[in-house]
Amino acid sequence: MAARIIDGHGFAAGLRARVAEGAEALKARIGRAPGLAVVLVGEDPASQVYVGAKGKATREAGMAGTEYRLPAETEQDSLLALIARLNADPAVDGILVQLPLPAQIDAQAVIDAIDPDKDVDGFHALNVGRLGIGLDGFVPCTPLGCLMLLKAELGDLSGLDAVVIGRSNIVGKPMAQLLLAESATVTIAHSRTRDLPALCRRADIVVAAVGRPLMVKGDWLKPGATVIDVGINRVAGAEPGKTRLVGDVDFDSARAVAGAITPVPRGVGPMTIAVLLRNTLVSACRRHGQPIPA
Ligand code: NDP
Repeated sequence: MAARIIDGHGFAAGLRARVAEGAEALKARIGRAPGLAVVLVGEDPASQVYVGAKGKATREAGMAGTEYRLPAETEQDSLLALIARLNADPAVDGILVQLPLPAQIDAQAVIDAIDPDKDVDGFHALNVGRLGIGLDGFVPCTPLGCLMLLKAELGDLSGLDAVVIGRSNIVGKPMAQLLLAESATVTIAHSRTRDLPALCRRADIVVAAVGRPLMVKGDWLKPGATVIDVGINRVAGAEPGKTRLVGDVDFDSARAVAGAITPVPRGVGPMTIAVLLRNTLVSACRRHGQPIPA
């Protein structure tokens, strides 16, 4: 039987609607909408699309979304000065600096200049540490979105075997931490891992965050496993000159074996922005001592 398709697009739409309700209720109490500042340095085409989408989604959720677009040659000091202004601005609840940054800028120095309590991307070293020791903080949006989909699909994750393929700071590592906090038994795989197919075959949950098109095949999976495909890879399409998006999982072969699977597109992708909006709402609630909506 073919796997259930996990509808990330639909789940994200529901989450965005709940965030919009929460933002409206908070505005009624504190007299202003939650605010997100998104900073882009340079003209990377993909980053421009992401930043535009984040700003638009923020405003659609009834929040104040402001985009700051700086030239590619911006020096680190002027970016740090902007961050300092946003840190001090009481109307800004969330600050996001779109990565990658140009080579003259030290990305971690910029991230660590963000007020950790406005770091809605969850990349600040303090938030990374908070996640590691189980304190409230901000968790990176993509892995938190994956966890929401997994819990909606499976309920209690306790005792399940999970393999996370990829150990990046933005996806793989925080994903592993989140699964561990849910009492899953977690293995983190990477480019040096030996016999990855055999490792995956033991897993109840496989999260693929690699950036290699269609790498995970159906015969790597335990029958009935839940598969979360984080990958976004642009490959040649069927017609000359056309491209299409595929994940890190070979969807057709995986679907025949898995119990449930996220598609690409309309799987994990839409969750990232929805969770960013949620993190911004949570920040605004915390900063005003208001209860955080469910
Ligand atoms: P990175 O390139 O930072 O990390 C990729 C990881 O995959 C590394 O840990 C690397 O191992 C590992 N890897 C590479 N090749 C192999 C292999 N052959 N076998 C096992 N592991 C391997 O990528 P990101 O984490 O930033 O992103 C991963 C994917 O997720 C990309 O396709 C990206 O586009 C997508 N993405 C999607 C998002 C969304 O919103 N849906 C958000 C963020 C990312 P090593 O560390 O040893 O090099």
